[in-house]
Amino acid sequence: MTEFVCNSCGERYPENTKEYRCKCGGLFDLVTGKTTFDFDKQLSIKDLSLWRYEEALPYTGEAASKITMGEGLTPLVKVQDGLLGKAEYFMPTLSFKDRGAVMLVLHARKMGFNSIAIDSSGNAATAVAAYSARAGIKCSVFVPESTSEKKLAQIKAHGAEINLIKGPREASGATAREFVETNDSFYASHIYNPLFYQGTKTYFYEVFEQLGGRFPDGFIIPVGNGTLILGAEKAFEELQSAGFIHKWPRIIGVQASGCAPIYKAFKDGLDVVPQIESSGTEAEGIAIAAPARGEQILKVIRKSGGDMVAIDDDETLKARALLAAKGIYVEITSAVNYAAYLRIMAENGGKLWVIPFCGAGIKSS
Ligand SMILES: [Zn+2]
Repeated sequence: MTEFVCNSCGERYPENTKEYRCKCGGLFDLVTGKTTFDFDKQLSIKDLSLWRYEEALPYTGEAASKITMGEGLTPLVKVQDGLLGKAEYFMPTLSFKDRGAVMLVLHARKMGFNSIAIDSSGNAATAVAAYSARAGIKCSVFVPESTSEKKLAQIKAHGAEINLIKGPREASGATAREFVETNDSFYASHIYNPLFYQGTKTYFYEVFEQLGGRFPDGFIIPVGNGTLILGAEKAFEELQSAGFIHKWPRIIGVQASGCAPIYKAFKDGLDVVPQIESSGTEAEGIAIAAPARGEQILKVIRKSGGDMVAIDDDETLKARALLAAKGIYVEITSAVNYAAYLRIMAENGGKLWVIPFCGAGIKSS
């Protein structure tokens, strides 16, 4: 049975709750009562999408059959010796956010909502707009005025209503929450709704399967609101409790120097993430000055024996050009991962690392 549990006071809410967070102000975690599947049976599963892991997910492939677009099971591409890139730009809307968006839209559909609201820096809004269109549900998106025109064009093409919000990324979130509180609309938030991490955890299940039942030495993961890192936490916990892994792989979280509150809190040895003043970055997908789940993200990185790095925009743009010269064109935000790898390589040497190519190059200018 699926339930939402407040991570602050422990109060439980039923699956069909319309609240997007606890009355005490705490954020929800998810309890599904599901155990992980039998990896030994995996090779016989024919579904070549993330639904091949349905035994570990809150919804089945059959439940998703009306809205799935074949999301998941993206290739692992060799970038150079010791480095594999998971090519998330193969996704239906060209970014990894489809993994979580399909879960949220399925949930909204099951709960009978006719309207969905989402705030995002662009990729999550694009993904939710596409899956809402697929499900026949009206979608309203709240994005910063600075959002790339290419992302806006993609959102508009799916028929979503676009609300351009002045101010930092957080202002879009505040406006979206005002909207859901005054309309009967489902808040498809990748920050508040933990169903999103049920989707992003499949990234790690896939890597585990693609490497023949093992993890690399480390994952390099970009961090804004931490949607991929919180998916890692779920996947690592589940695979460990099922006895498939005994130790977590290291997580190196990457932020842009211009907006790096988690990096700063980590290096300062803090357990919480104080809000910072963003000085701006081209890596718009991870420019989050006050990450709502910062405390949880710090815990996950520390539990993995990991680290945080901050990357300057000129390093990011250089890394993006280096990837393009290898035939791989990613959006600017995704290039922070390769920049981080180049720095870690220089310090740590030859291990096996996996980085995500989170979004396609044509998404940013
Ligand atoms: Zn609470």
